[in-house]
Amino acid sequence: MTNELEGKVALVTGAAQGIGAAVVRALAGAGATVIATDIRDLNQTCLGVARTRGVTCDVSDPASVDRLFHSIAETEGRLDLAVNAAGILSEGRLVDMDVSEFDRLISINLRGSFLIAQGAARMMAGSGSGRIILVASELAYLGRADFSAYCASKAGVVGLTRSLARELAPSITVNSVAPGPVDTPMLGVENMSQDWIEKEFDVPLGRIGRPEEIGGLVRFLCGPDAGFFTGQTLSPNGGAVMI
Ligand code: NAD
Repeated sequence: MTNELEGKVALVTGAAQGIGAAVVRALAGAGATVIATDIRDLNQTCLGVARTRGVTCDVSDPASVDRLFHSIAETEGRLDLAVNAAGILSEGRLVDMDVSEFDRLISINLRGSFLIAQGAARMMAGSGSGRIILVASELAYLGRADFSAYCASKAGVVGLTRSLARELAPSITVNSVAPGPVDTPMLGVENMSQDWIEKEFDVPLGRIGRPEEIGGLVRFLCGPDAGFFTGQTLSPNGGAVMI
């Protein structure tokens, strides 16, 4: 792997596990200095990765996000790359779902994306350049019964990406990734058979994704070859939906 992100400072949220942790490894592996954040303690997770420092942050809480960006300003003094991978999944039928659960999901998945993009854009304005990458889902496009709040939150992330790309051009690019099913604790398929996985997800490539495959795509979007991408949502999904 080349050191194509050498000298860059990157923020990654949702870094304690799954896709966020894979993004931390991908960006640090390409030479970036990474501020890894999660609502959970990061001590046992990605802090072993070189050039990585952990900060606790709840992306849905404006005060917590504010503290995060102050800490980056104080210690690093700049921010080049921001990846918002923090998110939650919640299942529930429309007729049964309490509105507080809908609000919780939107506040972490969509308001969190807004707050991280806002803080990042304010810091990046100082240097006049930067890359923001949000994590949506293929379900923003497909929809799924009993996952309406999740799908709506991710469709919101796609809309946010398109609007912010126009608003922040030409200095800052904004793109999102919309994965299909990926083998992380969120999906919880570690004890499921290959047959069950194939039936449940019906992916033409016959398997679910690996976190590293999403990390690699984010590294590309952060790197020198992706400078002409903005407002795009790239969907590594094994062929389940063609966006
Ligand atoms: P995961 O549950 O394995 O990891 C998510 C991380 O986000 C956790 O470490 C969690 O502590 C953190 N988090 C949750 N709420 C937070 C908050 N308020 N503030 C800060 N951190 C918080 O999930 P994952 O599969 O790695 O998912 C990462 C992102 O990718 C999510 O946005 C998810 O919706 C999206 N996604 C996942 C899949 C999949 O199949 N795994 C598919 C499409 C999209």
